[in-house]
Amino acid sequence: MATVTLEGVRKIYPDRGKPSVAVHQFDLAVADGEFVVLVGPSGCGKSTTLRMIAGLESISEGTLRIGERVVNDVPARDRDIAMVFQNYALYPHMTVHQNLAFALTLRKLPRREVDARVRETADLLGLREMLDRRPRQLSGGQRQRVALGRAIVRQPQVFLFDEPLSNLDAKLRVQMRREIAALRRRLGTTTIYVTHDQVEALTLGDRIVVMRDGRVLQVDTPSVIYQRPADTFVATFIGSPPMNLLRGRLVNGVFHHESGDFELPIRAPGAPDQPVIAGLRPEAVRLVPPGEGAAAEVNLVEPLGSETLVTLGAGSVVIVVRVEGTTPVKLGDRVGVSVASDAVHWFDAVRETRIS
Ligand code: ADP
Ligand code: MG
Repeated sequence: MATVTLEGVRKIYPDRGKPSVAVHQFDLAVADGEFVVLVGPSGCGKSTTLRMIAGLESISEGTLRIGERVVNDVPARDRDIAMVFQNYALYPHMTVHQNLAFALTLRKLPRREVDARVRETADLLGLREMLDRRPRQLSGGQRQRVALGRAIVRQPQVFLFDEPLSNLDAKLRVQMRREIAALRRRLGTTTIYVTHDQVEALTLGDRIVVMRDGRVLQVDTPSVIYQRPADTFVATFIGSPPMNLLRGRLVNGVFHHESGDFELPIRAPGAPDQPVIAGLRPEAVRLVPPGEGAAAEVNLVEPLGSETLVTLGAGSVVIVVRVEGTTPVKLGDRVGVSVASDAVHWFDAVRETRIS
């Protein structure tokens, strides 16, 4: 196992003479044995960052260390890293056993050791009965397990995962996510995991790195990212349904939405006297009897069994509320809206960054 350190890492692609910056300035210190998730929308530079760490893409500027060693110019095969891709990248003409054994055989490990490691890995992943099959004789989940196995069998210093679950259907994705979490606890190998899925980030990461447009917006534990998002992008990207964002101003304990359509009492001591964005998580909003709190109308009710999502409208303002279990409110009802003052996130109206 090893630490992974990126200092001022940049990636500039020469795009037909017009260079484009894919990663601006990436600083991150991954601790030995830590599981870090890079999350962000498509095109934000996650794969590019991972591929630079793997040695599959050159580093334009900055320093990359694995352990104490600077590896900017070390070829991929000498970095002692194993990568798992979304598309599995298995050898179709080889059996599962041969796929798992391939990297070890290349390294000229004794046959007995190769065999022992392959069997141990197959047991770990429930592939024991599949060793003689070829990839096309496997389900998607089994193929992804072989891809994981090929990484595990090498016992590398670092695992890199690039959206490994994206090709699986929703149910299998949840199952494999849990298997990866369990493997992680067993192996304890330093891991950097890329995904666009905020649920994977929240459930797998010791820490999450939220990226946008080639930049790192916030690095922290899942609970801090959720409870103290650094800006409105992080606030709405992490958490589902996303945080409600309302532009306006707080005057004498009442939040006035800029449209004039919505006035919400919030007794927030020390709240900023400036144009703000108020962030309300769906679970932080309470439905109260009409006449109390702010006035709104029910536009949509979505019962999900354990919870119900209620979409409220007040003029141009739309607010999604999460209610535990079921609710008697129905389409067209007039309701009141209230929030606890400490449940409101305040963001600067111009920079959209958190006001602490
Ligand atoms: P993500 O994995 O977060 O979806 P990528 O790292 O694949 O994002 O891409 C980041 C940006 O770099 C995108 O704008 C993409 O178009 C660009 N890019 C990726 N690979 C190349 C390449 N080989 N040449 C030029 N531009 C690229
Ligand atoms: Mg990608």
